[in-house]
Amino acid sequence: MYEVLKMGRLYKLSVKIQLDLFDKMIKPILLYGCEVWGFGKNEVLERVHLKFCKILLNLKSSTPNYMVYGELGRYPIDIDIKVRTISYWARLLSGKQAKFSNVFYRLSRNLNENGDTNLNWVYFIRTILNECGFTYIWETENVNNKEWLKCVVKQRLIDQFVQNWQTSLSDSSKALNYRIFKTKFEFEEYFNILNIGDAIRLCRFRTTNHYLPIETGRWRNIDRENRYCNLCNCQKLGDEYHYVLECSSLNDKRKQLLPKYFMKRHNVVKFFELLSTKKTIAVTKIMYIYQTYQ
Ligand SMILES: [Zn+2]
Repeated sequence: MYEVLKMGRLYKLSVKIQLDLFDKMIKPILLYGCEVWGFGKNEVLERVHLKFCKILLNLKSSTPNYMVYGELGRYPIDIDIKVRTISYWARLLSGKQAKFSNVFYRLSRNLNENGDTNLNWVYFIRTILNECGFTYIWETENVNNKEWLKCVVKQRLIDQFVQNWQTSLSDSSKALNYRIFKTKFEFEEYFNILNIGDAIRLCRFRTTNHYLPIETGRWRNIDRENRYCNLCNCQKLGDEYHYVLECSSLNDKRKQLLPKYFMKRHNVVKFFELLSTKKTIAVTKIMYIYQTYQ
């Protein structure tokens, strides 16, 4: 993993390519044979995945995971494990009945239906299908189209994950600004538009990896409402919104770098437009503000 990251840095590969390298070189190692053992606790695998993403984007390890998933439009590895297990199960059903794996599955299933809860693998498949609303497939074992089953299970798991992601976003106190400009779960376009250095700088700003009082106050245990701006004497919250659009000490910088539109009457809509814009020019300008402050 570190070798892939090292090469990515050396050749200045884009974020998308580096994620692709993770999926093609590291994930197959992590998930080797997971169809059989994937029912266990897999947090350790997800930790590797998130660590890769955080190192790639130069983020603090304390950056909330929902921000990492959200910026990169990534799904947890757990989804791959579940889809592969269901796919393996479907293949098993249509395979030869005399095969050892098939005989073993029949025995395990019978035991499970008679109340033996120790058979985790069978229980795992049953749970996935139940949670995806396919209890009838588990009961009838009627899988005519394996590809279809694989696709719909994957889609439902993704839908459930995105739903949970939205809940974390709306519940987290750290995401008060983030949820203004992050409205959709998807890979952020700015990673494609900007060069990797600038993209990472913008990503760090968006994901609270900066040194604005709203963040440094947290480290010093200052109450949220007392984390004032340390540039002007306005006694206003020193958060991303204030520095980007409001702080009077940055007026000159703003005049110099931002279109006039953003100078007049700042509001949440303009904040959203600046930080979520897909236009290179505006994104680059917002980064200058960050660079001048950090
Ligand atoms: Zn200020």
